[in-house]
Amino acid sequence: MQATTQLIHSIPVDPATGAIAVPIYQTSTFVQEAPGVNKGFDYARTGNPTRATLENLVAQLEGGSTGAAFASGLAAIDAVVKLLEAGDEIVAVDDIYGGAFRLFEQVYRKFGITTHYVDTSNPEAVFHALTPKTRLIWIETPTNPTLKITDIRAIARIAKAHKYVGPLDKPLSAAQGALLCVDNTFASPALQQPLLLGADIVVHSGTKYLGGHSDLIAGLVVTAEAELGQKIKFLQNATGSILGPQDSFLLIRGIETLHLRVRQHCASARAIAAFLENHPAVNKVFYPGLVKHPGHNVAAGQSKGFGGIVSFSLKEDSIDAATAFVTSTQLFKLAESLGGIKSLVSHPAQMTHKSIPAEKRRAAGVTDGLVRLSVGLEDAEDLIADLRQALDRLPVKAATRKKLELEKC
Ligand code: PLP
Repeated sequence: MQATTQLIHSIPVDPATGAIAVPIYQTSTFVQEAPGVNKGFDYARTGNPTRATLENLVAQLEGGSTGAAFASGLAAIDAVVKLLEAGDEIVAVDDIYGGAFRLFEQVYRKFGITTHYVDTSNPEAVFHALTPKTRLIWIETPTNPTLKITDIRAIARIAKAHKYVGPLDKPLSAAQGALLCVDNTFASPALQQPLLLGADIVVHSGTKYLGGHSDLIAGLVVTAEAELGQKIKFLQNATGSILGPQDSFLLIRGIETLHLRVRQHCASARAIAAFLENHPAVNKVFYPGLVKHPGHNVAAGQSKGFGGIVSFSLKEDSIDAATAFVTSTQLFKLAESLGGIKSLVSHPAQMTHKSIPAEKRRAAGVTDGLVRLSVGLEDAEDLIADLRQALDRLPVKAATRKKLELEKC
């Protein structure tokens, strides 16, 4: 059976009523026949049937054993970090999502959990960053906004081989190595299933492609092993940042069309990347689907497609030029976030990456003239026309014009 057929038919028809859509169990508690005798649910923080359907669905989508749904992507990330203890260390991708960076640095560092940031697209750098205290390796692939690719299989091998040297009474999982967690938000399980490539944990901002309609905030954790899944479930109940039944329903409804949407996101993103590559106002296009992208081969070997996010830098590398561009698109709306049906444009230097000092930001490739597109489901030709009119309207400074003329010669 193909993935979409399997997905659609794995969502159960309601056994109580025959409802074909998943019922929203808007209840805080469940009546018991006798103390401790119930129909599988007792209190809705611990478990809710609508949320349980979502959790099983996403576990199946990722090829894992256990799913857990949280109030946001950050709450999901937070639950994974709570597996650690004071003194433990994390090795994380250097251009990590800013919210995860803030959580690691401004919350967990003061509780004694230290994170080292490396370029995980180079597996050797990960290997050399490991210490006897490393318990968790954290990667995103592709990254935001420069779409760097990390070889999940290679990092999983390194994680498994890394023997934990410390008190023997606190093994995190059956595997003795450091755990590998992949934030799979950008690719989505329609394209990439990290657990099948050797990762231990996958997290998602369900807010993005899984929800798909820019109408909810949600987070998910999926584990490969059931034992680790139980630890996440324990933390979900113990700390309480669960996803409510209404949003669980919306997320299920989004997931039902995930494969179809992602296929179109990918096709339009590829067409847009090709258009941008040939536009004279564009300096560099970042899209893993382009053969010259440094991570193209690795991405092709671990993903079914290259995703719906395209970043590019303007020849006029300035905040002014980028601002002029992002305020003159009509269909691409200027907003944070990604993965929805409506196309979005953002300027990382002034939005998602604003808190990073300019020199550090530029060194990471997030230049002043870098723009990120989340390609939606509008017709690709309309999206290209919108980008063309916005690019064509850019005022070109004399120095840049001269450079362009020289390039033409
Ligand atoms: N991970 C990635 C890669 C993200 O881009 C985001 C949000 O932009 C998150 C996690 C956090 O998700 P949320 O906003 O749902 O908390």
